[in-house]
Amino acid sequence: MTLDRRTFLKFGLIGLGTVGFGTRFETAVLAAEDDRHRWGYTGSASPEHWSELSPDYAACSRGQRQSPIDLVDARPASLAPPEIHYRSTPIEMIHTGQTIQLNYAPGSTLTLDGQIFNLLQFHFHSPSEHQIAGQAQAMECHFVHKSHDSDALLVFAVLLQLGETNDVLVPIWAHLPMTIGETYHDRDTTIDASQLLPAQLDRLYRYDGSLTTPPCREPVTWLLCAEPLMVSIAQVDRFTQAIPANARPLQARNHRPLLRSRPIQSAPFSQSSQSS
Ligand SMILES: [Zn+2]
Repeated sequence: MTLDRRTFLKFGLIGLGTVGFGTRFETAVLAAEDDRHRWGYTGSASPEHWSELSPDYAACSRGQRQSPIDLVDARPASLAPPEIHYRSTPIEMIHTGQTIQLNYAPGSTLTLDGQIFNLLQFHFHSPSEHQIAGQAQAMECHFVHKSHDSDALLVFAVLLQLGETNDVLVPIWAHLPMTIGETYHDRDTTIDASQLLPAQLDRLYRYDGSLTTPPCREPVTWLLCAEPLMVSIAQVDRFTQAIPANARPLQARNHRPLLRSRPIQSAPFSQSSQSS
């Protein structure tokens, strides 16, 4: 069974939990309507209890390839950058209770190793879920993709560090839903997710992990930009007024390889062109 896009959008309320398939997907939908399965980041619904909330969440404690991880001890590798073909899409945003999610209209893709992935949605975490040598950043943005041909998932992540105002976020933040279930839909205002990515996509981390939210499904191919983008403290404050801390703690690496792009060597002709 393939993921029905309309169903996905309709039940976007349960965020990444919707990225399930067949019976697991239907169970996830029911779970959203059942308080016993409601997961979160505090108290009895916090990450250490996720696997107790539903049998479908067993991977949250038993999985051996869970995310997020600390980005340390990376192995240099020749990583082909993804080909990004994102289009502009009307703003369709929802406060899921666990994040602010922007659903993406069909037709935007990321190609990696010849495999085409469709961009389904993107959403935010604060503080960041992945860390760099034990240091969390202010925020993290996850672009969630599903393979065009299979159930394979890929998340492209960008870390946001405190600094200048992020202009791309301004039109989104202006209408940020502040209460659970609140939506904002504007057919006349479009956003382009590619503008939330660094200009150069040749400095990346890559590893095999999981969804960072129930059902904690694995594997998920993770691509992370090595260069953080900026976000202002006022923008972070606004987000955390809508969504209190929503970062899953670091998970065991379990000897998984973490790959990092080798520095690109300057070609001789580019050096001579710079000096001319
Ligand atoms: Zn996420």
